[in-house]
Amino acid sequence: MPSLLVDNIGELVTNDAGRGVGGPLGIRRRVALLIEDGEVVWIGPTTDTPSADHRIDAAGSAVLPGFVDSHAHLVFAGDRAAEFAARMAGERYTGGGIRTTVGATRAASDSELRATVRRLRAEALRQGTTTIEIKSGYGLTVVDEARSLRIAAEVSTETTFLGAHVVPAEYAARPDDYVSLVCGPMLAAAAPHARWIDVFCERGAFDADHARAILTCGQAVGLGVRVHANQLGPGPGVQLGVELGAASVDHCTHLTDADVDALVSTRAGDEDGGTTTVATLLPGAEFSTRSPYPDARRLLDAGVTVALATDCNPGSSYTSSMPFCIALAVREMGMTPAEAVWAATAGGARALRRDDIGVLRPGARADLVILDAPSHLHLAYRPGVPLVRQVLHNGVPR
Ligand SMILES: [Zn+2]
Repeated sequence: MPSLLVDNIGELVTNDAGRGVGGPLGIRRRVALLIEDGEVVWIGPTTDTPSADHRIDAAGSAVLPGFVDSHAHLVFAGDRAAEFAARMAGERYTGGGIRTTVGATRAASDSELRATVRRLRAEALRQGTTTIEIKSGYGLTVVDEARSLRIAAEVSTETTFLGAHVVPAEYAARPDDYVSLVCGPMLAAAAPHARWIDVFCERGAFDADHARAILTCGQAVGLGVRVHANQLGPGPGVQLGVELGAASVDHCTHLTDADVDALVSTRAGDEDGGTTTVATLLPGAEFSTRSPYPDARRLLDAGVTVALATDCNPGSSYTSSMPFCIALAVREMGMTPAEAVWAATAGGARALRRDDIGVLRPGARADLVILDAPSHLHLAYRPGVPLVRQVLHNGVPR
């Protein structure tokens, strides 16, 4: 495969702070970056660049690792624009609209679902997202969960079985039976297409006992654990996630001190992040449901590893834009621009237990974003502006 040199980088966010320079983002200035076979192989000064088959002139702009969106629900049919409008007119969000999407998803053909997944994947890539996690969870039958994951796996290796999104209407009177279905035939059909298992652990969805049973079954067949936790109110999700060694607990909007302490404890002695439970914050959900934002400052000050993701879904957060989430996190959640950019790149990689993405150093995947801006600061400073000039995914310009 021909080599590619990205030259004239004004500011390179490496997230490789281990080198001891450039602050937490490991920023380097006036450098070039060489790519071979989809990997970064060299980073050095622009005055000393190696020869390459092809060259991209970054013209002094900022370059950063591709965004890692570690929480998205892309396999669905229909939209819920009317529900959004009703909410903006004063109705409260309860999560009940998920069943509307379940009905539309079951009725859709494979090709309709595939077209939506591919459209949203392409939309995210244009905005700089080079890795995206995709959950099932709008099928809620053995057949529909398996096909959702099969379609998701066509565009991402980070696929998550979320059969425990809500209890579907036909099981409303017998939730124990639904949990048995999820742990039995549904898991068996889903697992070959999934890397992760997730549960919506919330009042009105799954309680701690049901969530523990489902997550434990998933672990037993080799799936990693993630949890939708503490979104709509305080609850057991965060501590359950920590107890089970979850890679990430997501939402974290309503936390007790004990929840924060539990998350901090997962970092003890964990140099490479391999056993840390990340708190993944999803500010698009609070924005789109007009709800109070999670307190990122409290988590960061306590020493919790924080990631940002979109929660892209048709009900509570229909955005695929990581730059938008960065801007929200800075303006509304007390994060600095550097913390938000780290959380949207390296933080997402930690939440997926990956060390080859979210970072730019020799050996890392050549997933990167060239901005139409001189600094990463502009992602929060210029909200809503399409600042992504070019995306390279596996070293290939998109
Ligand atoms: Zn979600």
